[in-house]
Amino acid sequence: MSYDNDNIFAKILRGEIPSEKLYEDEDTYVFMDIMPRADGHCLVIPKTPCRNMLDASPEQLTACLKTVQKLSHACMQAFGAEGITLQQFNEAVGGQEVFHLHFHILPRHDGVKLRP
Ligand code: ADP
Repeated sequence: MSYDNDNIFAKILRGEIPSEKLYEDEDTYVFMDIMPRADGHCLVIPKTPCRNMLDASPEQLTACLKTVQKLSHACMQAFGAEGITLQQFNEAVGGQEVFHLHFHILPRHDGVKLRP
């Protein structure tokens, strides 16, 4: 499948629409989800074009997962969470709505359900 340069996250990476940045390095960017399903819900994306996990290079996956681990630890500390749910959707039928690879980091607390 092809990559659409006009997707929302590509616009965020280009600075064309605002985002609440948490972290960035050479390869990845992390920002708060605009409709958080848990306190601290954030998204990890590669800086280079990539439609989803099915389309990703080993380097993109490695960079993203390193950042996912780093930010998961940071979010657990910042939000006093006891665990993390990691979500990642591929293609519309798989639940994907924005077609730039992203990983949802969802900090979890005992007895607290994810918001819809
Ligand atoms: P789903 O919407 O089913 O979770 P995705 O995995 O494609 O599908 O997630 C897209 C995510 O991007 C959603 O959680 C949505 O709230 C978030 N989102 C959409 N637009 C923005 C934006 N401008 N800034 C931050 N997050 C956004």
